[in-house]
Amino acid sequence: MSPSTTNLVWFRDDLRVADNPALDAAMAAGPTIAVYIFDEQSPGIRPLGGAARWWLHHALEGLRSNLERLGVPLVLRRGAAQEILPEVLSASGTQSAYWTRRYGGPERAVDTGVKELVRASGGTALSFSGTLLQEPWVPLTQDGNPFKVFTPFFNALLRLPLRPALGEPPPQEPTGLPSVPSDKLADWELLPTAPDWSHGLAAAWEPGEPAARERLELVLADIAADYGDTRDRPDTDGTSRLSPALRWGHLSPVQVWESLSALVQGHPAAADGARAMMRQLAWRDFCWNLLYHQPGMAEQNLRPEFDAFEWAWPSGGVPRGPEEAQANEEFEAWCRGETGFGLVDAGMKQLWETGWMHNRVRMVTASLLVKNLGIHWRVGEQWFWDTLVDADAAANPANWQWVAGCGADASPYFRVFNPELQARKFDPRGSYVARFAPVAASEPIVDLKESRARALDAYARMKER
Ligand code: FAD
Repeated sequence: MSPSTTNLVWFRDDLRVADNPALDAAMAAGPTIAVYIFDEQSPGIRPLGGAARWWLHHALEGLRSNLERLGVPLVLRRGAAQEILPEVLSASGTQSAYWTRRYGGPERAVDTGVKELVRASGGTALSFSGTLLQEPWVPLTQDGNPFKVFTPFFNALLRLPLRPALGEPPPQEPTGLPSVPSDKLADWELLPTAPDWSHGLAAAWEPGEPAARERLELVLADIAADYGDTRDRPDTDGTSRLSPALRWGHLSPVQVWESLSALVQGHPAAADGARAMMRQLAWRDFCWNLLYHQPGMAEQNLRPEFDAFEWAWPSGGVPRGPEEAQANEEFEAWCRGETGFGLVDAGMKQLWETGWMHNRVRMVTASLLVKNLGIHWRVGEQWFWDTLVDADAAANPANWQWVAGCGADASPYFRVFNPELQARKFDPRGSYVARFAPVAASEPIVDLKESRARALDAYARMKER
């Protein structure tokens, strides 16, 4: 490849300039331009939820200014990637495309198609690992099968060599680069306007790489050491809150893992907490492994025996009978944070207000929906998908299935979280509930004991079938 050939980096879920092997390789090979394609047209691509669209808008603004610092222009285009990418290559006279790999089924199909088109026209397409600790086809059992249980997966992951994190590539001279027409970000209408419900998100988050790096520094200095004790406490700032940064690729998991490893080595007092956080980070890879090997995970029970489970499914429209009317009402109360269970209501309001919810509370809210209210996990998964700023195509369905009992390495079905006991244990002073749900909803919408018994009966009936 001639050093003067222009290269194109196609950004997707890797919206950062540091530790970005695709960007690094492109800039090392020659002058580089970048593109982000907002693709809701390609078959099977799941449209982003509202909170994710808000995040994406700001993340792209941040990426543009970071790339500008490196002398790399960012082109924005909307449409099906298999049409747009070849168009941008041709408009820029570019032969070589670089990107970070994606692992969802439809995304892989799109990327394979694009690769073939680029190669057929005489160009080069190079893909890199940058979103996971290890490629999902690498950690395999001794029989060569994908892992279905987390702990052996984690042990296998620990034995694999990790690539070292990269810094930012040196800036390039921004002159003489091809100029390619770009959409205006505002025209994509990613931000809510009628009404603008994003004030709480803006107060809670600063999307982009600089804020993510700052948060990581704070996590290393103040949070990781005590993580083992604080990780289950929604009333403290005791977890990393790096999930959106990882979801959008403002940080790579390799950067986070490497920093935590250094803490383990250099600060014995912080080692246990840092190790516990690394274990959680590995759950993220585990979820992506599951999705890679079972691309239908957002729609299909990983354990097919659960296909016979009698879950209710709210219609959201005019109910066809009393059961559906009840499911509609209960689902709405759950979404609004009006179930009458303080911890659940605080979690659902935290989600609506800030686009994020603490992990312990995600488990408790999800358990109430699927077990006490008997509503299908996919309905809750979709609500989280719409409202989370860290909505992740692998972690969201994998964790919902875990709570519902139909997932990989799932929590046993009979484990039904009691939201009142959970609140006493993990929010003992009630400060989390007071912060997000200060006014208690009148009566609980469901009797915990009766609904638990109903759930266990339904489980027994499923097993009989
Ligand atoms: P920390 O506790 O600081 O953990 C560090 C990182 O490890 C996280 O940022 C995250 O990337 C990863 N991680 C931690 N726990 C998990 C887990 N159980 N599964 C996968 N990765 C994990 N996480 C998402 O990133 N996106 C989702 O859409 C999502 N949906 C969820 C739905 C339900 C029903 C449940 C129970 C959990 C879900 N999680 C999801 C996992 C988890 O709740 C969040 O990753 C975590 O709360 C993020 O907070 P944190 O960054 O402070 O995590």
